[in-house]
Amino acid sequence: MWGRVLAGALGAALVLLLLVLTQVYPETPAHPAVLIFLAATGGAAAVYGLLPLLQSLRQAPAPSPRAERHRLEALYYTAVRLASNLDLDAVLDTLAEALRQVFTYENSAILLYEEDSHELVLVRAHNYDRPLGYRFSADLGVSGRCLRSGRAEIIDDVRTDPDYIAGVASCRSEICVPVLRGGRALGVINIESTEPAAFNTEDLYVLTSLAEIAALAIDNARLHGETVKLARTDENTGLYNYRFALECLREQLAISRRAGKPLTLMMVDLDRFKSINDRFGHITGDAVLRQFARVLESGVRQGDYVCRYGGEEFCIILPGADSRHASEIANRLLTAVRTHPFVDVHGQPLGVPVTASIGLATYPEHGQTEAELRRAADQALYRAKKEGRDRLRTCQAVGS
Ligand code: GH3
Ligand code: MG
Ligand code: MG
Repeated sequence: MWGRVLAGALGAALVLLLLVLTQVYPETPAHPAVLIFLAATGGAAAVYGLLPLLQSLRQAPAPSPRAERHRLEALYYTAVRLASNLDLDAVLDTLAEALRQVFTYENSAILLYEEDSHELVLVRAHNYDRPLGYRFSADLGVSGRCLRSGRAEIIDDVRTDPDYIAGVASCRSEICVPVLRGGRALGVINIESTEPAAFNTEDLYVLTSLAEIAALAIDNARLHGETVKLARTDENTGLYNYRFALECLREQLAISRRAGKPLTLMMVDLDRFKSINDRFGHITGDAVLRQFARVLESGVRQGDYVCRYGGEEFCIILPGADSRHASEIANRLLTAVRTHPFVDVHGQPLGVPVTASIGLATYPEHGQTEAELRRAADQALYRAKKEGRDRLRTCQAVGS
């Protein structure tokens, strides 16, 4: 390449010399044919020689000190933000933002590896043809290869790569970097360009550094997420536990109060559950509690909270539900429980009816504070039990 560059430089010098001579000695004109010949030869040599240099500069521009500083700053602030964030969504947002700041590319993708399904899941993307949540086997694509090998790659021309699966049809080159943590691959980051050979080793180095910071942050966020989940989950049923129920009631009540909307608290208690334990044993009792939890969950809306309050007592927080709407839901739940085919720990039908009683209280009509609502719902439940079980009572439904 340097031979071509030299020829180009000589050609350019020749053209320049001609220009100077015609300006300095305008009174001694050379033959026009000679001038045209020399200018054409010099021009052609200049174009021939300097073109590849221009091209390579365009494809892999040497970073200016300013651009370099900008990248370092962006990496530094990304590292600071990631280190102080324990929420996975926020971590991924920060990472996606850093990609936009640090690189020039047409599209990018952050994919996380899901060990159970051995799949890569698209969690953040820019200009990508696939929707977020799109998943594919970790055995496929350049991303899969990069994840399995644990090695970062620059692909100058994706058309020559047999593993490449087009995320964007016009893409020509790509960098793919694994996100590694303690020998485990957590995912991959890739950025793509419509230009061939758009990325250089400097880009690879920067993206690898970013991936290292990201790996730590993703791992921490996941660990934190699992700890939080454990702290608020009931072990046997997988429902929210008592502690979460109280916290949730306080928060949702505050939200309802601000929004001027109702909220209903339902207390749900299995009827004569002691006799199920006595007859079938504690282990089957636990299994019935799990099945009961699923019946409750499948009978409420997405934004409702089903919690195990303790023992065989549950509570459901229904933000936005007034007492009429909540009563309909509660009656449907009672029917669902009554008709559910409960089984013992071996999967055999229990053969005895399982029923529950429900007491409900609604903000604002039955109470203003959490304590008032809990008391009102408890009293309603007590009445449902007293008046025969397998029924619903609301706080005000005296004698109904
Ligand atoms: P009622 O209709 O009045 O609610 O009668 P009940 O038998 O359901 O109520 P009681 O409060 O007399 O008994 C509750 C029973 O629930 C006693 C206890 O053994 C059982 N229980 C509480 N927690 C668990 C649990 O985690 N697993 C199992 N298997 N049983 C539990
Ligand atoms: Mg009970
Ligand atoms: Mg009870």
